[in-house]
Amino acid sequence: MTKIIVANWKMNGSKAFITEFFKNFISAPQNFIIFCPPALYLKDVLNHTSRVGGQDCSSHLSGAYTGDISSVMLNDIGCQYVLLGHSERRSYHKETSETVRQKAGHVLKADLIPIICIGESKEVRDAGRARDFVLEQLSHSLPAVSDKTYYIAYEPVWAIGTGLTATENDIIQMHEAIRQALPQQHIPLLYGGSVNKENAHTILALPNVDGVLVGGASLKYEDFNHIVAFSELPMV
Ligand code: PEP
Repeated sequence: MTKIIVANWKMNGSKAFITEFFKNFISAPQNFIIFCPPALYLKDVLNHTSRVGGQDCSSHLSGAYTGDISSVMLNDIGCQYVLLGHSERRSYHKETSETVRQKAGHVLKADLIPIICIGESKEVRDAGRARDFVLEQLSHSLPAVSDKTYYIAYEPVWAIGTGLTATENDIIQMHEAIRQALPQQHIPLLYGGSVNKENAHTILALPNVDGVLVGGASLKYEDFNHIVAFSELPMV
């Protein structure tokens, strides 16, 4: 298996963008690329690839929750993944780790793979509490019981969309700490935070980095094609 590359398009894109993107997107069959477009465009992206995920889902299964989308619905239209607890959801929508855990439970029951995002703010890192904070966030966000697969994405909040990347050492240390804290072996561990075509190769080659979650650079097919080409490193 090659490294996992997740494209988080956030609230960007259009039908025309998707057509243009996939006309120019280059990927080999063995590449493991997951696209997370806005919910309205999931079907359009599913016309091009089966590895598609939602950017979020409801913490409820159905009912009077106007505007929400359930994990069962995502499964119904053909999605296989869901991002959960992205820092933009935690910060703009006040999502707690307990909510993320509840969502993760539903997602697993719906036979989807949750990609659970965790990461510290700059304030927390500057205070020297990054490791403790991230491990606590992890322990509260993980699904209660699971023998099913989920992915973890370590995304330092201060590195998301800022052009700042965690140092190699920071990534190595945090990924090792997360790996040791996980109740199961073989949980894919991704790094996210200003990954681009210049730094992707170095980051993907670090120990305990099974892939990357890419925001901004996944919207430019020229850049994303480079990142995808780097995913052909062996899993270690
Ligand atoms: C993200 O969307 O999770 C992300 C890491 O964005 P960017 O690559 O733009 O920092």
